[in-house]
Order: sequence, then C-alpha cells, then structure tokens
Amino acid sequence: MVETVAGPVADLGATLMHEHVFGLSPEILWNWPDIPEGWDPELRAREAAARLDELKEHGIDTIVDLTVVGLGRYIPAVRRVAELTSVNIVAATGLYTYDALPPYFGNRGPGSLFGGPDRLAEFFVRDITEGIGRTGVKAAILKCASDHLGMTPGCERVFRAVAEAHLATGAPISTHSHSASRGGLEQQRLLASCGVDPGRVVIGHAGDSTDLAYLEELVAGGSYLGMDRFGIGTICSFEDRVATVAAMCERGHAGRMVLSHDSYCFNDRFDADVVRARHPDYHLLHISRDVLPELRRRGVTEEQIRQMLIDNPRTILSGSPR
Ligand SMILES: [Zn+2]
Repeated sequence: MVETVAGPVADLGATLMHEHVFGLSPEILWNWPDIPEGWDPELRAREAAARLDELKEHGIDTIVDLTVVGLGRYIPAVRRVAELTSVNIVAATGLYTYDALPPYFGNRGPGSLFGGPDRLAEFFVRDITEGIGRTGVKAAILKCASDHLGMTPGCERVFRAVAEAHLATGAPISTHSHSASRGGLEQQRLLASCGVDPGRVVIGHAGDSTDLAYLEELVAGGSYLGMDRFGIGTICSFEDRVATVAAMCERGHAGRMVLSHDSYCFNDRFDADVVRARHPDYHLLHISRDVLPELRRRGVTEEQIRQMLIDNPRTILSGSPR
C-alpha cells in the first residue's frame, strides 16, 4: 500500500513521478491577496481536478506531487482536489532550496547562530509517519534539491536530513538536480555516504541532459533517472528528450527511468499566458498525447513504456526490492 492524499492505495497504475498541483507564495498571498494570479482555493481546486480527470482519460492514474516547503506546499487545498478527482495524488515532504535554508531552519541546528538540534529530519519524519499539518495526509516520498550552485551548505543540510528521514521511514527520495553541471553525481555520492541505497533515489531532471555517458554513470551508481520535464523545451527540446529516452531504452535502461512533466495545475510564480506562449507543450497531457507515440515510433516497446510508467514507479514507491 502507498499513502496518497486520499488515503492508502494498493495499485497506483500509470504514474507521473514529478508533477505539482499548486505552487503558492503564502507571504505574497497574505499581503497582496488581490494579485491578478488570485488564489481562490475552491475555484483552483475545481480547475485542477478537471485537468486531472482529463489526464485519467489519457491513461494516467497517479501523479506524484513533489511540492514541498519552499514551493508553497498547502495540503488542505490538495486534499480538496483529491476529493474531486479519481487520479491518485502522492504527497511529498522535504525542502526546496538551491542555496541557503529558510531562517527558521538556518538559525537553528548544528553550526548555526543558535545551535541546537536540527529540526529538518524531525519534521520530515513527522510528515511521513503522522501526517502533514493537521490534515492526517501522509507524505510518501522525500524531496531535496541542488542546482547550478552545487551542494551548498544549506542544500547539504537538507540532503543529510532527507537521508536521515529515509533511513527512519523507508520513504524513497526524489531530487531536483542540475544536469548541465552533472549535479546528479554529487547528490548520489552524498546520499550514499549517508547510508542511502541509491536504488531508492530518483535523480530528478536527469532528462534535461542528452549526455548518455552522464546518464549511464548515474544508472551504474544504482539510481533511477527522472526524465521528467517533457514540455520544457527551452532547457531541452522535445526531439532531444525523446531521442535520449529512446537511446537509453535501446541500451537496456528502461528499468531505470521514470517519466513526467514537472508541470503545475496552478502556480502563482508564473504568468500562465507567458508560460503557454513559451512552452506550448508544458502541460499534463503532453506525455500521453505526444511523447508516448513518438517513443513508439522510435522503437520503444510497450513493455518498456510499461516499465517507465507503471513498474518503476510502483517499485520506487512501494519499496519492494528489484
Ligand atoms: Zn518540480
């Protein structure tokens, strides 16, 4: 059984491993509630549920919502979406920063201004074992990030806390990595040095890279690859993304890849019209409508697609050994 926002689910079915329901800026919303990107929870929940229902019609049963603190996670709103749609939503815990920790954490813990215990791991474990906030919704996956700055001291504290929470709970780990600087490798090394089995880790945004040697190094290190930004053409084109997945399948790595878009149903940090103009394929249906047919055309088999969409997500989230 895997915990979802609506409760434990036995069979996740076809799963997109890195999406977002809502990206919110709570302090902006508190102080400037009349911004044009206006946050009406019921309206946004209905819009999001309609998009997810459409996704279900296109053969996808589950999304993993990797929105954590730093991206505006707000589980009561996600729970409302889960009530309105039949798509399973898996919640995450963790912290999203490319550099420093938010002062709440940065001013506490080892080596900080006031010292004392590090609360990060404690909070992550609580989200997984007891539930998030007062919702009772349990997180089923851990998220951490590093980007072009590399493994800064703030990022390293998050990775170490995520590793600690993983070892305490068994929840898998999914990262945001910077492929241009081959950043997945140092993530993999750090987590392994903390005692994490790299086979429980998805190196996210690996699909931003077309460097097969880099991707095969991550696979040799034992991790899964997140080919998870289909539709973000400015970082890597549709052509390059599908060619890379097809080439990796041909080399026998379908058992190590998962697919997704890294899309949002609603995100107050982007102007929706601008995003649509710049990334017309950046939406939840792109994989079903465009990517899978193109992969098939390039010789990727039904069995390999099944592995990437169904078997690998199930293995990662249920923790069953390969
Ligand atoms: Zn994301």
